[in-house]
Amino acid sequence: MAPGGGYCREVESHSKFVRNDTTLIKADSFKSVARLTEKNAMNSANNLKELLQCPVCDISMYPPIYQCPNGHTICADCRTRIENRCPTCRFELGDIRCLALEKVGESLQLPCRYQSLGCNDIFPYYSKLQHEQHCHFQPYNCPYAGSECSVVGDIATLVEHLKVDHHVDMHDGCTFNHRYVKSDPNEVENATWMLTVFKCFGRQFCLHFEAFQLGMSPVYMAFLQFMGEDSESRKFGYSLEIGGFGRKLVWQGIPRTIRDNHRKVRDSLDGLIIPRNLALFFSGGNGQELKLRVTGRIWSQQ
Ligand SMILES: [Zn+2]
Ligand SMILES: [Zn+2]
Ligand SMILES: [Zn+2]
Ligand SMILES: [Zn+2]
Repeated sequence: MAPGGGYCREVESHSKFVRNDTTLIKADSFKSVARLTEKNAMNSANNLKELLQCPVCDISMYPPIYQCPNGHTICADCRTRIENRCPTCRFELGDIRCLALEKVGESLQLPCRYQSLGCNDIFPYYSKLQHEQHCHFQPYNCPYAGSECSVVGDIATLVEHLKVDHHVDMHDGCTFNHRYVKSDPNEVENATWMLTVFKCFGRQFCLHFEAFQLGMSPVYMAFLQFMGEDSESRKFGYSLEIGGFGRKLVWQGIPRTIRDNHRKVRDSLDGLIIPRNLALFFSGGNGQELKLRVTGRIWSQQ
């Protein structure tokens, strides 16, 4: 905008006002009253939205909403986490519901809770909860399975987190050739497992390799997860191969979204499963060491 542009506009609207005759001025002032009422309505809706925000977690409250004897409100989740003291005034909280606020909420349209992450949709009070369960802007959980990691974030944040905090190997390229070596192949439950991240087609994929007990049998499993939504993960395919001494196991699949947690994918057996005796056979030697070479490829289905 040219310097002084704002000033010019002001002059223009002022001169328009001077030209107006009395009837037009009346219509104009009527319009501005209407605008004021509209503004007031918007303000009060915003005030209501603020009232509905839990002072502790900052998320919109849903029934049951509780209040202290002084009228400070708190959401049901936070109420279970605090020691029966109002976080605002420190009074004993008790068991008082705030039915009025619960009722008022029903009349409101609220933005998705992931608005700050890019979701611009607005929903009636209860539909908002349904939407948020499937909102594509909700942050992802850390896909690292070796520990109970509570880090959440968008893909870029998680890639950085995997690299820095979990020291995960990062590779560029759509083919891989990976060696897993483990000196004690008899340890099974969560004993052997690895995560490697591949960047290909401009996206990230997590290759998991781990040992677990499938029924009575110790097995190894390798599978790929896509760092993104389910709808996008279906655009890719992958294959894994493991073998030696003239035998080969091959798996072809579709990477699972990291929205599905690691255990869910594992329990659905959606990957390459290698019984331990076969894994030891492929390892060669005397069965005292696990030495597996997994090769694989990721492709785009389009
Ligand atoms: Zn809360
Ligand atoms: Zn209080
Ligand atoms: Zn949303
Ligand atoms: Zn983590």
